[in-house]
This record gives sequence, structure tokens and C-alpha cells, in this order.
Amino acid sequence: MALIVQKFGGTSVLDTDRIKNVASRVGKHRLRGDRVVVVVSAMGGVTDNLIRLAGEINPMPSEREMDMLLATGEQTTISLLAMALHSLDLPAVSLTGAQAGIVTDGVHSKAKIQNITPKQVHAMLDEGNVVIVAGFQGQTPDGRITTLGRGGSDLTAIAMAAALKADLCQIYTDVDGVYTTDPRVVDSARRLERITFEEMLEMASLGSKVLQIRAVEFAGKYNVPLRVLSSFAEGEGTLITFEDENAMEQPVVSGIAFNRDEAKLTISGVPDTPGSALRILKPVSDANIEVDMIVQNVGEDNKTAFTFTVHRNDFKRAQDVLRGISTEIGAGEVGGDTKIAKVSIVGVGMRSHAGVATKMFEALSNEGINIQMISTSEIKISVVIDEKYLELAVRALHSAFELDKSGVVEEGM
Ligand code: ADP
Ligand code: ASP
Ligand code: MG
Repeated sequence: MALIVQKFGGTSVLDTDRIKNVASRVGKHRLRGDRVVVVVSAMGGVTDNLIRLAGEINPMPSEREMDMLLATGEQTTISLLAMALHSLDLPAVSLTGAQAGIVTDGVHSKAKIQNITPKQVHAMLDEGNVVIVAGFQGQTPDGRITTLGRGGSDLTAIAMAAALKADLCQIYTDVDGVYTTDPRVVDSARRLERITFEEMLEMASLGSKVLQIRAVEFAGKYNVPLRVLSSFAEGEGTLITFEDENAMEQPVVSGIAFNRDEAKLTISGVPDTPGSALRILKPVSDANIEVDMIVQNVGEDNKTAFTFTVHRNDFKRAQDVLRGISTEIGAGEVGGDTKIAKVSIVGVGMRSHAGVATKMFEALSNEGINIQMISTSEIKISVVIDEKYLELAVRALHSAFELDKSGVVEEGM
């Protein structure tokens, strides 16, 4: 008898019909004899709506109350799903994160899980129930409700699977697996049979929101057997796994990620002296603004131009901070651009292949796309380009690295 943790995201529980659909999927596993723990998200759009409501009442809501509010989204779904299972004559109970034993630190809206003591979960499974746990939430040791960051139900499911030593964690969503790139953007995107934790982490970090970044990190660290599958169709989905050292041939590039969430800032005429990068970036980080890519161009007259990217939401604040710094250190103009996009190619095969960057730059150049910034790691190359060329760039790279669906070979050809 296997123990499986199944997670259903917002679109999978969008309305009561879809909740009934989830109940019948879960029911099939239960009737096969598996022990099933289900983690659910809030119904699609509910979390965003709650955030909007809070904003209408108070532009700076208290963090404690905000988490209290957002946690209600998932609580609605767990009880409705339990009722749907009861309608199918299946015993089921719902539990909040706290009741399921999820203890977190006190950092509201992005709390970290400290430990899980799933005593009630075990007891209720032993009584033959499907146990339904509210995703995205936990509780501090002193009893405050916390949330785990947007998309955090993935983390609840994976952490629950680790704590219960589950045989498998299945993440059910509105696509039938992890694709070579977002299938909503590129028609020819192809489902991957498998992807490594490392690649999945890069893909998620670089903008592929199919799995929450922290959830992938956790799954890799605790070696949680993980599969992404469709809530609406049957299929094998995608297995997230460790690198197969014995594989004869790894694809050089496994996937393409992108995001439109960043903005670029440039400060020119920066004196080229030791400590200037620190003098620019320290006040930015003191303002709690995260910096992503950084480029420094050495110019003439011992002056440099310093360019970096931040989240678009932080653009205005970063610009203000930079203007202050510019006056302070005797630098020049502060420029900015919010209409940029970052496109990244990801693949563990890059480690052992030369010429990957050249091929990427060639594909972009053939489309007349200018590269504004570049950053690399062992298994990824990212470029910043003009936002209006994003889809063209993703398509060009997708075909340059032969990620497109393989053509159907007709009989007799
Ligand atoms: P859920 O509500 O189930 O948590 P999400 O919206 O968080 O679902 O994640 C699923 C979405 O992720 C898909 O609808 C798809 O558009 C998007 N996505 C982005 N990149 C990829 C990718 N490489 N493979 C599959 N889906 C992707
Ligand atoms: N409901 C939360 C969100 O929308 C958590 C989740 O869906 O995973 O971010
Ligand atoms: Mg999600």
C-alpha cells in the first residue's frame, strides 16, 4: 500500500465542478488501496482577490492580519473537497496547516518551515481517511498563522511528503507536465519525460512558474520523489529526478525560461576606484531591494557605467536610491528601462559542451535581437533583451536548440 501526497493548484480547484473532479481523481487512488494525503491551493483567483480587498481597506495592512486573511483561501478549499469526497462515500477529513503540524518561523508572507509533526495526519490516515491539508500555511510556535510565499502550496505538499516519508509526491496542475518552455507561449513546446532537480530549480528561478522555487529546492534537498501531472488528463507527466550519470547523452539544453518581471538601472560616470560597486549596491540592499544581474563597463577617463536589474516593483525606489548615491559619489546620470525581458537557456548538458553561448547569440542575432546584458552559470545562460522581442527570442532559441516537438513520421515515408 503506497502513501502518496497529491497537490492540486488553483486552476484545478477553480469552481465546484473542478473540486468534484479532484474528488473523483483522489477517490480512484484511495479505492486502489493507496493512503492519500491531498494538499490544495485556494480556488483560482481567490488569493489575488483577498490581497485586493485588503488594499481597499488599508494600503499598509499588518503582516499578521494579512496572513490570517490569505490563509482563509485554502481553508475554503479543504472543507469543500472533504464534502465532495463524502458525497462519493469516501471518508475524508480536512486539516489546516497548523493542525497538520506545520511549524514555521515568524516571517509573515514568506515563512520558512521549521519542522512538521504530522501526528494528526498519521492518526487520520490510520482511520482510513483521505487527509486534506490546506496548502501555503503554517503556524509559529507561539500560535500565529503564517503563509509560505506565493505558490507555496507546492512547498506544503513536498514538505508533507518528506515528513511522511511518502512514496511519491504528485503535483497536479493545468498542464500535463514540465515543458521545454511555457506551452502557453510556444505552441511547439514539448513535455519532458524527466528533468533534474538542478535544472528545475534554474527554470523556476528564471521565471517558469510551474513549480515554486522553494518547493523545488526542498524536494532536491530531501530527495522527495516528485512528478508534475495534469488534473484534467491521464498521463505520465514529468518526473523530477537526480542526474542520471549513466545516461549516454544528455540534451545540451533542456528548457527555456523567461520573465518580464525585471527592470534595468544604469548609473554612468562612476569613478573607477576600489569600493565603488559597494557604494552603489549597499544602499540598494539596505533598502531591501534585491539585485539580479550586474554589468560594469569600463569606459574612458577612469569612469565606468554600472548597470543592474531589480524586480519591476522595486524600480522606482531603486531609481530614487541611485539618484541619491550619484550625487554622493560624484557620478553622472541615472538611467532606467522597465521594458526589458530576461530569457534563459537551461541544461545540465552545458557542462560538457562548448559553443552553447555562441549558438544562443547566433540565434538571437539572426532575428536581429540585440543583447543588453548576459549572465552565465554552469548550467544556464541568461540574456536581457528588449521586452517586445521576448516571444520571438524564445521561439528562435527553442528551434535553434532543437527543442521543438519532433515531427510525426508517417507510415511508409
Ligand atoms: P497551479 O495553479 O496548479 O499551481 P501554476 O499556474 O502555478 O499552476 O503553474 C502552471 C503553469 O505554469 C502552466 O499553466 C504554464 O503556463 C506555466 N508554465 C511556465 N513554464 C512552464 C513550463 N516550462 N512547463 C510547464 N508549464 C509552465
Ligand atoms: N494560494 C496561494 C497563491 O495563490 C498559494 C498557492 O496557490 O500555491 O499563491
Ligand atoms: Mg503554482
